[in-house]
Amino acid sequence: MKQSFFAVKTDKNAPHDEGSINAQLLTRGGFVKKESAGVFSFLPIGLRVLQKIKRIIREEMNAVDMQEILMPALIPKENWQQTGRDNVDIGFKTDRNYILGWSHEEIVTPLSKLYINSYKDLPVALYQIQTKFRNEPRAKSGLLRGREFSMKDGYSFHLDREDFQKYYDRVAEAYFKTFERAGLKSYKIEAGGGEFSKLMSHEFAVITPAGEDVMLYCSACGFARNAELRENEKEEPKKCEKCGSELKKDKCVEVGNIFDLATKYSDAFNLKISDKDGKQVVPYMGCYGIGVSRLMGTIVEAFHDENGIIWPKTVAPFQVHIISLNQDEEAKKLEKELEKEGFEVLFDDRDESAGKKFADSDLIGIPLRIVISGRTIEKNSVEWKERAKNEAENTPLSEVVNKIKSFYA
Ligand code: ATP
Ligand code: MG
Repeated sequence: MKQSFFAVKTDKNAPHDEGSINAQLLTRGGFVKKESAGVFSFLPIGLRVLQKIKRIIREEMNAVDMQEILMPALIPKENWQQTGRDNVDIGFKTDRNYILGWSHEEIVTPLSKLYINSYKDLPVALYQIQTKFRNEPRAKSGLLRGREFSMKDGYSFHLDREDFQKYYDRVAEAYFKTFERAGLKSYKIEAGGGEFSKLMSHEFAVITPAGEDVMLYCSACGFARNAELRENEKEEPKKCEKCGSELKKDKCVEVGNIFDLATKYSDAFNLKISDKDGKQVVPYMGCYGIGVSRLMGTIVEAFHDENGIIWPKTVAPFQVHIISLNQDEEAKKLEKELEKEGFEVLFDDRDESAGKKFADSDLIGIPLRIVISGRTIEKNSVEWKERAKNEAENTPLSEVVNKIKSFYA
């Protein structure tokens, strides 16, 4: 794709009213535009990143047999009244009849009554990727805390608690994989009531100074738990209770969570099925969330330098950034060749200075930059520069396609 055709322009100036790194870099790079506190438009290259993240999530959820559906954002007030959640502060009320969806138990549970009738229909798990609306009081961390944001929410239904527990563990593994594929190391933290509560609840957290939470974690075995910032600030990290190694303490952001709903919503909506003996039983439910747009903001917080974003290969808006310095014909040839091989190429054909092109390229953060100039063409080569590395190198034109293939293998 030609950069000159792009509807989006990079912007030297960071937004004045957004302190977070993700909001600054994503706005300057032309990925998003802030419309109001916690509300963003996704521009062409930003949407490409978001869609790649969604694709990873979809693949991992489908792999644990969750079926994708799409529920409405406009949820009738009666549904919320049935669970007593109609007056929760976080809900945006549109008028007397609806509350915008800030969670979807109130739709998914009555909906499932249509086709969960017997033990033979269980277990079943449904998920959606939807826009959620929450009147968050502190919406000033860019994509980390939106008032309108993208969430993956999944819900599972089981005959009994044991079956739920088995599925819960499968989803936990799928979550580790999802975040890893998006380039992030995640930690599973026991949340809520902990071991004294009968209900299971875990958060998946990623270490970043931009996070609102603090965790103690063991880099040897991966064990992690919540830390209360103020109380523990002066205390030295203790030993890991699982393996005895030193515990570290860092700020983190919650990118997902999984929890036990027990029969709270099945009860509220009178969801019942018949078991093997024909007895009516109340299905046991689990719930599984991922902050889709928050994940995008978290990736930027985790991967950037003073010049811009450094996207992991799996979620980058494009795979190769070709910069032509007055060598458009050669550059176009390489672009065509790479596109034929299935690579996503952004071609900077703009009439801009080399300095501006390089600065924009660093800001946008595509993992690989190929510069074609008079100087490189003289030597039948290109300049190969990985965004995550400092040095550039010369690569013969004849080898560049194969080298890109192995870079992305
Ligand atoms: P938090 O404690 O951060 O407010 P939560 O406990 O409200 O999160 P859930 O309601 O279970 O979280 O939502 C599921 C996931 O959606 C969270 O793990 C988080 O990654 C994401 N999320 C929650 N609130 C927001 C928000 N305002 N903006 C962006 N993502 C969010
Ligand atoms: Mg919340």
